[in-house]
Amino acid sequence: MPLKSLTINGFKSFADKTKIDFTTGITGIVGPNGSGKSNITEAIRWVMGEQSARSLRGDKMVDVIFAGSDTRSPMNRAEVTLEFDNSNHELKSPQENVTIRRKLFRNGDTEFSINNKACRLKDINAIFLDLGMGKQSFSIISQGRVEEIFNSKPVERRSIIEESAGVALFKQKKQQAENK
Ligand code: ATP
Ligand code: MG
Repeated sequence: MPLKSLTINGFKSFADKTKIDFTTGITGIVGPNGSGKSNITEAIRWVMGEQSARSLRGDKMVDVIFAGSDTRSPMNRAEVTLEFDNSNHELKSPQENVTIRRKLFRNGDTEFSINNKACRLKDINAIFLDLGMGKQSFSIISQGRVEEIFNSKPVERRSIIEESAGVALFKQKKQQAENK
């Protein structure tokens, strides 16, 4: 299920609205240290539902909002949009294109949407868990993550495998049912 585009606006170092189109094949992003390469992968994890500010190298979630620079004032909200080509209908949606969006305002208000329709974080999590592509999965491997996986405890490693195998979603549903 290919990515079509990523649009970043007000997230971390991206004060200007920036759109990256992913054409077929492999996309490489190159740039000097500190130019924002890691911020791009973090924007992808964020729009896919990442809830840990620490794993986005911040203390609190509002730290992802552009904090200002010598020449620009801080922004009031971060917005990231990720567009998927769903022509093979791997995502459970009748739409050919699926667009997910996340917004965060400085006062802490958050909005999620799927195809411009407001939704809950739960709905975003469900589509990716279903594909074995949740925020913890192997689909995005950050610097240092390989060592972390090797050094993790068996029970943690098991959760990675379960997520990749698509078991995690059912475990989560079972837990929710038991809690009711
Ligand atoms: P490296 O090659 O060293 O891994 P990189 O290209 O991955 O570098 P990033 O870590 O993505 O670079 O970007 C770091 C930059 O993002 C820093 O200059 C930092 O000040 C900036 N940055 C992070 N959060 C914010 C924010 N909230 N507002 C403004 N700038 C930010
Ligand atoms: Mg980096």
